[in-house]
Amino acid sequence: MLIATINPFDNKVVKTFEEMTPEAVDAAITQAEDTFKTWRTQPFSRRSELLHRVAELMREGSDKLSKLITLEMGKLYAQSLGEIALSADIIDYYATNAEQFLADEHLKPEFGEAYIKKSPIGVLLGVEPWNFPFYQVARFAAPNIMIGNVVLVKHASNVPQCAQAIEDIFIAAGAPKGLYTNLFISGSNVSNYIADERIKGVSLTGSELAGASLAAAAGKALKKSVLELGGSDAFIVLEDADIDQAVAWGVIGRMNNTGQCCVAAKRFIVVEAVADEFLTKFKAKLTGLKVGDPMDSTTELGPLSSEGAAVQLADQVQRSVDAGAKVILGGKRVDRPGAFMEATILTDIEPGMAAYHEELFGPVASFYRVKDEAHAIRLANDSPFGLGGTVFTANKERGENVAAMIDTGMVFINHPTWTQSDLPFGGTKRSGYGRELSALGVEEFVNKKLIRFSEYADPF
Ligand code: NAP
Repeated sequence: MLIATINPFDNKVVKTFEEMTPEAVDAAITQAEDTFKTWRTQPFSRRSELLHRVAELMREGSDKLSKLITLEMGKLYAQSLGEIALSADIIDYYATNAEQFLADEHLKPEFGEAYIKKSPIGVLLGVEPWNFPFYQVARFAAPNIMIGNVVLVKHASNVPQCAQAIEDIFIAAGAPKGLYTNLFISGSNVSNYIADERIKGVSLTGSELAGASLAAAAGKALKKSVLELGGSDAFIVLEDADIDQAVAWGVIGRMNNTGQCCVAAKRFIVVEAVADEFLTKFKAKLTGLKVGDPMDSTTELGPLSSEGAAVQLADQVQRSVDAGAKVILGGKRVDRPGAFMEATILTDIEPGMAAYHEELFGPVASFYRVKDEAHAIRLANDSPFGLGGTVFTANKERGENVAAMIDTGMVFINHPTWTQSDLPFGGTKRSGYGRELSALGVEEFVNKKLIRFSEYADPF
């Protein structure tokens, strides 16, 4: 894949980058391994000081960095600003809390003393997606750098300037060379490097295809992997829900980042008694969104991340329609240059259709009308994915009971699935395994070493 900035607003190539040679990658791994030897011995205070400075520089450069995000993957500028703020918060969160999360854990053995010491494991490779170019990297890099690991980051090929900007910030903050290294390599070449013995663990956020390929290479090399993959989250609305609230949050849940969130509300599952009211109000809110330049603060619907993404989404819609689904809003590419897709609502979706089984990564909502709560839960779970989910209800206990029955890694009641530093993030089924963020986010790439002390005793 070409490593390039291509502005999805007009599909023009802005800047291209050379892929690193295998020799250059080898040198970067050597440097990372050398840096690990000293970084692992640094006190938490040094690591924390560095990360706080990284967060500070991100905030200071917010306008410039946000414009890069918008240029490279088309996110509305206001949302890009939000992403930078969230990324800086995550970095600060680990800088402040990781020492406590990584403290020795004392056990109560029959005699003597025992504790678990959490040690770093070495050089890690993170493979990251374009949809949140700073936030995804922050989730992976900050906890691992606090642990004492060092990171190589292979970012998505369509956000090279964001990728480079992150490395530049680390260097400007005073990071030793090799602590955070941006690798310009294409996705199809990643697996070639995973067997390298100097790389101790791999983490990928992205599609099922890329995840399976990376996990297979990691498994073959007996290396730990963490996978944060796609989702097709259910947004369940029960008959006792406040429909105006459900509609307002449903629109945000589906349309944030032009629908390109792994935890976007993708399948709207609404109980019969309130289905018409919900659909009418939901459609009204999605009708007539102002399409335009994502840099313009009045734009409500920007482009998708790339022409390829728009072509793929339009094809998924078309295949669903050909198989009998109905379009009650949108359904086509917007008639203008750039990677635009209309805000779309599909109904009458049945098993076997693309919209039923595949992840729709863009502004396309799938609407399902169900008999009752039990039917809603059955449908929500009839998905290969298991990332997040939402249930809207006036009754907290009922919401919690439904949440317990949904087979995903996260369920939010009366709010779309979302993220913050201190809440764990991750999925089950084909959405991957492992967790990022919160105290769980520092547990993935540590050696939980048992240290056991005994007084001398008579062995006989
Ligand atoms: P993608 O094509 O899988 O790309 C993600 C990353 O994987 C990119 O850096 C890509 O590099 C790399 N890659 C591609 N093929 C690879 C391979 N065979 N081996 C190793 N790496 C490979 O995913 P995307 O379509 O850009 O991203 C959207 C997907 O990510 C959606 O499914 C979304 O739901 C998911 N996602 C999940 C989470 C989560 O936390 N669960 C968060 C955000 C996004 P190139 O760019 O060079 O191809």
